[in-house]
Amino acid sequence: MTLHELSIEKAGELLRNKEISSQELTRAVIDRIEATDDKIGAYVTVAKDSAMESAKAADKAIAEGRVSPLTGIPLSIKDLICTKGLLTTCASKILHNFVPPYDAAVIRRLKDQGAVILGKVNMDEFAMGSSTENSAIKLTRNPWDINRIPGGSSGGSAASVAADSAMGSLGSDTGGSIRQPASHCGVVGMKPTYGRVSRFGLVAYASSLDQIGPLTKSVTDCAMMMNAIAGYDPADSTSVPKEVPDYTASLKPGLKGMRIGLPREYHAAEGLHPDVKQAMEHSVKTLEDLGAELFEVSLPHTPYVVAVYYVIAPCEASSNLARYDGVKYGFRDKSQKDLLEMYRSTRSQGFGLEVQRRIVIGTYCLSAGYYDAYYGKASQVRTLIMEDFKQAFETCDLILSPVAPAPAFAIGENADDPLTMYLSDIFTLSANLAGIPAMSVPCGFSKDGLPIGLQLMASHFNEEMLFKAAYNFEQATEFHKRKPM
Ligand code: GLN
Repeated sequence: MTLHELSIEKAGELLRNKEISSQELTRAVIDRIEATDDKIGAYVTVAKDSAMESAKAADKAIAEGRVSPLTGIPLSIKDLICTKGLLTTCASKILHNFVPPYDAAVIRRLKDQGAVILGKVNMDEFAMGSSTENSAIKLTRNPWDINRIPGGSSGGSAASVAADSAMGSLGSDTGGSIRQPASHCGVVGMKPTYGRVSRFGLVAYASSLDQIGPLTKSVTDCAMMMNAIAGYDPADSTSVPKEVPDYTASLKPGLKGMRIGLPREYHAAEGLHPDVKQAMEHSVKTLEDLGAELFEVSLPHTPYVVAVYYVIAPCEASSNLARYDGVKYGFRDKSQKDLLEMYRSTRSQGFGLEVQRRIVIGTYCLSAGYYDAYYGKASQVRTLIMEDFKQAFETCDLILSPVAPAPAFAIGENADDPLTMYLSDIFTLSANLAGIPAMSVPCGFSKDGLPIGLQLMASHFNEEMLFKAAYNFEQATEFHKRKPM
């Protein structure tokens, strides 16, 4: 038995039956990191010692009968979720030495279950990007083809799960950063409803859009991780006090009568890669064969989605990132004598170019005289985008689309072309603008053998419907069983 290849579900069973220990399992995954991460580059920090200690504590808990579904399971964490005593860099020079004094709410929840934190994984700096190429720390490669990007910004999360160097991972999704890398690396990823998972301890990028969610090897594993992290948290003012169902209870066969909408505007989108198009057509057929009813719906404000997002997200980022000034924590240019010069120099050196670009755009859009024309107008159009979904969900239970217009591109291919990079977010941004849950599930491979993901979106707090459809789709297909060489 190859321990590092196990799913969370299977490993949990073996742990509970005492056929394996968490120490064996954790050791196997750390060995896997050591064997593969030179090539993949998913990890920023491997917390070997503390992981082995947690594994030991998990084995003790299991021996004493204190078992939760994630007890003893080794996981990786995107490097913008605060972990007490463990470096949290946001893949930025400006936080290169930041060790949080507290755990994020989701980390506390994982630790309460006895999960093992393996370490922190790479990302685009402050989660700004779609390829993980904006990391100031290192390059992460796609395990399916190491000359290609793993997607982003949660590229380290997706690559670690695809390479079996983590059994699951937590990422964050502001405009697609869980779903798009999940799609490019052939794993499952979920962005929950805004307010479903606490953002306490998540380093903020764009606060009205950010959500934490899981990346896993299977839909069942995703439901198990959601069970652990979802729920009200008074420490996050946008967290919603709403009962959390047992998501694994939705994993039942049968899609008869489920109504799935295909947005006309998405499927008519220009520039859709033929292999993605073909995978979508197959997916539609598979869902129909499973008994679902598929028909066209309309999301008329789709042409404005990219523009709205790329005003709102930089505005909120420029405000959130004002705190990195070299005074309170992180990098400081100590050579400067004057306070304003110290700010200027620290931020110019500490932030990468893409982050600076967004701070400049956001600050401009928020400045006196421009606020109404940009942030104000974008917020109004955002409401129209939300309305589109509300209307669509009056006729359907789920909406289906591609995750990304093409499979993973080559490293460096779009690095100097921010506009092309922004435009490739077309299918994922709207779920964040509308605050609805969405998921990426493996649905095919390109002619070059690169994974392709299917996106399913549901109405607010309807994650159960996503799990039901994704589970049935997964069980009817073989894509999730393939592993990269
Ligand atoms: N690619 C988008 C961006 O660059 C989304 C990133 C994210 O979801 N964090 O902003």
